[in-house]
Amino acid sequence: MTDVVLSFRGAVKTYPGTPPVESLRGVDLTVRAGDLVAVVGPSGSGKTTLLNLAAGLDRPTGGSVELAGHPIETLPDRDLSGLRAHTLGVVFQQFHLLDHLSAAENVATGLLYRGLPSHRRRAAALAALDRVGVSHRAHQYARTLSGGERQRVAIARALVGRPALVLADEPTGNLDSVNGDQILGLLRDLNADGVTLLVITHDPYVAAACSRRVEIRDGLIGADTRQDPR
Ligand code: ADP
Ligand code: MG
Repeated sequence: MTDVVLSFRGAVKTYPGTPPVESLRGVDLTVRAGDLVAVVGPSGSGKTTLLNLAAGLDRPTGGSVELAGHPIETLPDRDLSGLRAHTLGVVFQQFHLLDHLSAAENVATGLLYRGLPSHRRRAAALAALDRVGVSHRAHQYARTLSGGERQRVAIARALVGRPALVLADEPTGNLDSVNGDQILGLLRDLNADGVTLLVITHDPYVAAACSRRVEIRDGLIGADTRQDPR
């Protein structure tokens, strides 16, 4: 099926050590185009490990993880980097913006590996900033932006290449409740516009706003349910 953007099949991730840590112990998960999935679970349950595998930042030690139909466990590093650049956008809790660049320059870095001329990168960056409601901040240094604005810029950077999948790790974790609500509203609007999203969160409020809720516990999926978003 072409509409599967991410698929875990019996995915295992064991970190070496004495004893080894079994962070994921056989995860099955399929994300389709248009999904808005929340992955919830207590601290240490394997959420970030799952995100790192989904983002191609790490490879499974067993089973399979396919991104846009490509098994990441066998892909050479170079091909994996290319696949990531063309398929994924990632939003982190700590925003990870470059303070000495403007908002627009930060967003344009999301296109660096696409081989586009700089004027096209700049135009796409401005359009993405407009989409997330901060085009009026385009030429300010990232360090001068508020937390909510920084997260919008980070989301614009994730979106700018029109990726098949956007992954977000605790996207509201560093925001107050008002800004957190606004970011959550933005993610839902983007999903309504067709952006496929997987959101890692331990916030029940964020999870309740998604149309699908996947619970992870001790490295295994406990429940995977469709729900009416609140
Ligand atoms: P969560 O994000 O749900 O808090 P993590 O995926 O970060 O959980 O961690 C799951 C388990 O894997 C934890 O027991 C954690 O200590 C362990 N772990 C995570 N990363 C590493 C690593 N690089 N080396 C060893 N153990 C790790
Ligand atoms: Mg984590």
